[in-house]
Amino acid sequence: MKDKWGRTIDYLRLSLTDRCNLRCRYCMPEALASVGHEAVLRYEEMQLICRAALALGINRFKITGGEPLVRKGAVPFMQALKAMEGVRSVTLTTNGLLLSDALPDLVRMGIDGINISLDSLDAVQYAELTGGGQLSVVLAALEAAAASGVNVKVNAVLLAETKDQILPLAALARKFPVDVRFIELMPIGYGTTLKGLTEEEALLILRRSYPDLAATDERRGNGPASYYRSQFLQGRIGFIAANTHGFCSSCNRLRLTSTGFLKPCLCYDDGVDLRAIVRSGKGADEIDQDLQRVMAEAIYEKPAKHCFAEQNRISEHKTMNQIGG
Ligand code: SAM
Ligand code: SF4
Repeated sequence: MKDKWGRTIDYLRLSLTDRCNLRCRYCMPEALASVGHEAVLRYEEMQLICRAALALGINRFKITGGEPLVRKGAVPFMQALKAMEGVRSVTLTTNGLLLSDALPDLVRMGIDGINISLDSLDAVQYAELTGGGQLSVVLAALEAAAASGVNVKVNAVLLAETKDQILPLAALARKFPVDVRFIELMPIGYGTTLKGLTEEEALLILRRSYPDLAATDERRGNGPASYYRSQFLQGRIGFIAANTHGFCSSCNRLRLTSTGFLKPCLCYDDGVDLRAIVRSGKGADEIDQDLQRVMAEAIYEKPAKHCFAEQNRISEHKTMNQIGG
């Protein structure tokens, strides 16, 4: 359905858990207290919400977290979601550490895309940034995923301290048929504690090795990335530049936290508690009607744009692992 600004909302980021097996410094650097199991939506509850979302025209789902693959049953849940009538795509974003084991089942279910988060190809720096992550494990998963024929994207947050990783990361798109996307650091949660780089700064560096980089107007996924092509690369270079190239006018997304809180915009803590509805004790039809009604209201009232440039207006105080990125 459309919001009051005329944008079509058809994409839901669904967080399975706030837990993670890494501690990325801009996301959840400390062992933050996780929400209790009771607070987290059960898979059947998430399916009720997805069914209501489908009825409203939301038919593309991104499975996120925390690290979604640390939750038991994540792959069967994705399989069941993919099999629901009307679902157009189910994609996953992961840090890649548990991906190799899950990959055969993901390929079998026909996953529509896998995004692997990877900010540095220097093993020491990667471990330092992620609180102990093992780069070789992620690279093995990336190689296997690329070889499997699945649509793979690498997502790297643009940090001042990983400036010299921009070219090595981009070279992944030369070696493998994968898109490499650079994400401007967003001032949410611990994102305010590090210094980021802009798309322009990264492009200057990239153009030294890829002088033919040319913008394309291809749409290659669910969202806001803009893409560049080079004859030297198999995949594209993408940017998700929320700070310097606002894309709110074409925003198509909602977010659901693992505790069932539906967020219309990353920047604000406004939203609706869908868990209360799915646990209301009403019959399935009534729950479906209630979900559709409050979700439709939340969609209609989705804010026109984020407020990253005015940090005193950011009312969201959750960390990214709680929101789902
Ligand atoms: N654990 C999974 C992963 O890392 O892909 C899924 C969840 S993670 C929160 C989703 C994405 O959000 C990752 O690509 C991560 O780099 C990104 N992210 C986290 N904090 C961010 C921030 N402050 N600014 C920009 N991207 C951020
Ligand atoms: Fe975990 Fe992903 Fe956050 Fe890193 S970015 S701490 S992998 S949820």
